[in-house]
Amino acid sequence: MKLPPFKYACPTTISEALVLLASHDGDAKPLAGGQSLVPMLAFRVASPALLVDLRKLAELRQIKIAQDGVSLGAMVRWREILDDARLRTAHPLLVAAVEHVAHYQIRNRGTVGGSIAHADPAAEMPGIAVTCEAKIAVIGKSGEREIAAADFFEGPLMTTLKADEIITEIRLPAWPAQRRFGFQEFARRRGDFAMAAAAVFYDEDGDKKARNAHVGVIGVGDRPLRLQTVEAAVNGQKVDEVTIAKAEAAASAAVDPADDIHASGAYRKALVGVMVERALKNAAV
Ligand SMILES: Cc1cc2nc3c(=O)[nH]c(=O)nc-3n(C[C@H](O)[C@H](O)[C@H](O)COP(=O)(O)OP(=O)(O)OC[C@H]3O[C@@H](n4cnc5c(N)ncnc54)[C@H](O)[C@@H]3O)c2cc1C
Repeated sequence: MKLPPFKYACPTTISEALVLLASHDGDAKPLAGGQSLVPMLAFRVASPALLVDLRKLAELRQIKIAQDGVSLGAMVRWREILDDARLRTAHPLLVAAVEHVAHYQIRNRGTVGGSIAHADPAAEMPGIAVTCEAKIAVIGKSGEREIAAADFFEGPLMTTLKADEIITEIRLPAWPAQRRFGFQEFARRRGDFAMAAAAVFYDEDGDKKARNAHVGVIGVGDRPLRLQTVEAAVNGQKVDEVTIAKAEAAASAAVDPADDIHASGAYRKALVGVMVERALKNAAV
């Protein structure tokens, strides 16, 4: 399908990009990897008057690893995350999740900022951001702000991002070396969007009891979800078969997915429990 007509600009500085975005009364859009936006143009789901290509903004391409955490520039591509050996220890849960994102060609183009802005409820990166309490850094004509991932996603393809704002960074808190984690996803074919997936991590006390449990799921709601009831079932417990069975039941009970063309809500409800069970088993070994 042919794309609708649009004007195109490729700024070399963020300030130039912001001026361009503000120039069309909300009818301009940033273009990152194009892996979601271009299909949306083709299907006429979006038809902005101006596309502002972010590919020349080198400052958005950096992966920074510091004591206080990992910062991913918005234009960092999936392939760059998988190729960065430092991230395998600095944030192994992120890497485990990104291994499930799409296919080779799409991973070479798609970006973390594009995924966060696109806000697909079945996408891995928004799920990791919510599970890990990431902060989303954005800049617009009225300045910079930082939004907690839990407040950023408002529904399918809906966020608190304003039309004149650009995501600059996704900031993930520091990851202790001994932290236990697991990521499990079920999709019909590898690389498809998740039917359901679970990201879990926890730390351990000296007596091997879990604390600081974080459990997030995707594909089973209108946005990525943190499941506090599952976290409560894990915290203070040894992560053994009994705890895992309680967590599985709590996960299924916590979600209420709708029926859609891919699966019934009942199926996804059961599936998300299995994803949490498997992710906790991965974490516990
Ligand atoms: C066949 C196929 C399979 C896929 N499978 C998966 C999958 O399994 N998991 C998954 O997570 N994704 C999947 N994707 C999507 C892919 O990961 C995209 O890369 C991602 O959703 C969007 O990133 P992008 O860089 O391509 O953004 P674009 O398509 O360029 O932009 C997407 C949206 O974000 C906005 N945007 C982009 N960057 C910024 C920014 N810095 N600030 C503000 N707004 C911005 C754009 O204006 C647009 O609205 C798939 C895509 C395809 C085509």
